[in-house]
Amino acid sequence: MIILRVALDVPLPRLFDYRSEDATRADIGYRVLVPFGTKHRVGVVVDVAATSEVAESRLRPVEEILRDVPPLPREWLALAEFSSDYYHRPLGEVVMSALPPRLRTAKAVPRGAVDYVLTPAGREAFALIPVRQKRLRALLERLARGRATETELEVLARGARSLVKRAIKSGWVDSIDPPQSGFSFVRAHKLTWEQQHAVDALRGGLGKFRVSLLFGVTGSGKTEIYLQLIAEVLERRGQVLVLVPEIALTPALENAFRSRFPGACIFTQTSAMAGLERALGWLQAHRGRADIVLGTRLAVFTPLPRLGLVVVDEEQDASFKQRDGVRYSARDLAIARARAAGVPVVLCSATPSLETFHHATSGKYELVQLTRRAIDRAALPAIRLVDTRAHPPSDGVAAPLLEALAARLARGEQSLVFLNRRGYAPVLACPACGWVKGCKRCSAQMVVHLAGQRLLCHHCGLAESIPRACPECGEPDLQSFGRGTQRVEVTLAEKLPHARILRVDSDAVRARGKLDDLLERAASADILVGTQLLAKGHHFERLTLAAVLNADSGLFSSDYRASERTFAQLQQVAGRSGRANLPGEVMIQTRYPDHPLYRSLVNHDFTGFARNLLAERREAGFPPYVFEAALRAESGEMARALHFLESAVERAPQSRASLSVFDPAPMSLARLAGMERAQLLLQSRSRPRLQTFLREWSAMLYQMPTHGVRWHLDVDPIEF
Ligand code: ADP
Ligand code: ZN
Ligand code: ZN
Repeated sequence: MIILRVALDVPLPRLFDYRSEDATRADIGYRVLVPFGTKHRVGVVVDVAATSEVAESRLRPVEEILRDVPPLPREWLALAEFSSDYYHRPLGEVVMSALPPRLRTAKAVPRGAVDYVLTPAGREAFALIPVRQKRLRALLERLARGRATETELEVLARGARSLVKRAIKSGWVDSIDPPQSGFSFVRAHKLTWEQQHAVDALRGGLGKFRVSLLFGVTGSGKTEIYLQLIAEVLERRGQVLVLVPEIALTPALENAFRSRFPGACIFTQTSAMAGLERALGWLQAHRGRADIVLGTRLAVFTPLPRLGLVVVDEEQDASFKQRDGVRYSARDLAIARARAAGVPVVLCSATPSLETFHHATSGKYELVQLTRRAIDRAALPAIRLVDTRAHPPSDGVAAPLLEALAARLARGEQSLVFLNRRGYAPVLACPACGWVKGCKRCSAQMVVHLAGQRLLCHHCGLAESIPRACPECGEPDLQSFGRGTQRVEVTLAEKLPHARILRVDSDAVRARGKLDDLLERAASADILVGTQLLAKGHHFERLTLAAVLNADSGLFSSDYRASERTFAQLQQVAGRSGRANLPGEVMIQTRYPDHPLYRSLVNHDFTGFARNLLAERREAGFPPYVFEAALRAESGEMARALHFLESAVERAPQSRASLSVFDPAPMSLARLAGMERAQLLLQSRSRPRLQTFLREWSAMLYQMPTHGVRWHLDVDPIEF
């Protein structure tokens, strides 16, 4: 008897054994359909064995080995095993969530475009086919002269499709992948000296594992550098994986890639794609046909048998960290993957994460630096702080800022007004009794939105209509406090009535269709009001002023990563200004113009800023000088969640050398979508020690009675 060991998406840290009559080791990596309870499930064969710990009488037979998709290669399974081990999640959960949704089902996947060829058996059979079967003979005759597409065959004979199907069944005809067209690389720019230097340095790393940080100011032409590098890898017949943070940006980037690599086989992988489209692209990568795979974090799991290079753009971006299920960091897995494949990985950023910066300056990673903008006349923008104590804002906008906007308007130049808060106003309150509208499912306030006069919770999505009066005291005149993008749009329209103003945030994208369409219109607007959606990656020729309204909110957060994020975001916003021939300016409204973060920003001194922060982190014992993990618990009641964490600590392994276990505490957003959330934090100076502890502990946690509490471990957490 043969035993298949199957990874299934079940929250238990084990594999499941099934019987098979005819499986061999060659079946490792295939998807299988198996009975599970009273239903069926799709899993992946990760091992084939002769014996099982399960009694023979209780072993159930596999339903079907799904051979329409080639087996997942060993490297892919190794990456899944690494993730399972490092993030302490069952292998089955990792494997199944790493597959495109369509492949988590048994539904057959159409092959996509194929060519047909005659088999030797078909050649022999041809002579025996009666002359009256004209159409079949015509088809086979054609195929005897070489491969043909379905369209070519359709032209030759009506109903070719079903005839071919029958011929395939009889073993006369085979389907094969169409031949790969060659690609070319369009050199759009003559590289600057700095860029050329960077390309040369990175080129030296091809063919072996190495982590490089491509660290360059915004507009220094980092994209151009990795495009060159990609061209070299493609020439060597390698495949390239490019990870980007933002789903909304991938279509624009895909277009850019297509125009620079005509003929190359390029696929995108994001969660926003239709199921079949994503599965087909994934399969092209898996079959080794895709040259470039471009995607968000989930793309890190795309199988690429000829992988030659991994690029992670905006490597510091928090969206590379998965926030539920298997809580992986795609950037970290990209590095693990490159190491296993023996290929280089290039991390790109103008404001790298402190972890990466630390490794790059301590010599663990290669540091490739760019200090000037690529376009000749484009200097870095001048950054000005507008002290709101000296210039009190009216309706949220200080006078110098309004003047600067008006001046751009008069010159026909474009401005960007940035604030990282969408909606009309973040608070609805009663001026009479102080009542504030909170979300009934979250420990957060509901945001006033103009569209439909609604209140929305930005955490759980709950929508309500705006009450007519205060539910506490009956006061009819409820007031909105604070400012979101919608309110700023309204204010600016009043103050600058002739300006063409366009708001670009996720609400606008949802209301008006694709981001692409919105960006196209953005080119002709005088003032863009937007959130981080506008801050990343875009290039507006006429944009000469970037104004930031509420940057101070990021200065005094309890989250030690907040200032790092604030700096990165402000630098990104600043980077939108003056990218072409016109000099750019940035204005930041603040009550704290002397804050060190702003000082560094004004001096374009990320390095100094990062060194200071790193010194603080070393002092305080935070990453990258310690490694962290969190155990979180969720329940309808906070007491239960906390109690679960307390009993988890009691049962934790006793060997806690060089490990700090902190007390359980409610999370900073304690209530989310009706669940109370608590966590306890673990820190260690030794990653291996932390991992050993977590391994023993998680095995125990799976045995623990939960009494309805949901729990998970988060390794290298980024939210608290
Ligand atoms: P980054 O990613 O570093 O912010 P980009 O790669 O987006 O910068 O480049 C910024 C702008 O400079 C783009 O419009 C790009 O086309 C242009 N650019 C890049 N390299 C060159 C070059 N060597 N000569 C002229 N323009 C360039
Ligand atoms: Zn009231
Ligand atoms: Zn909510």
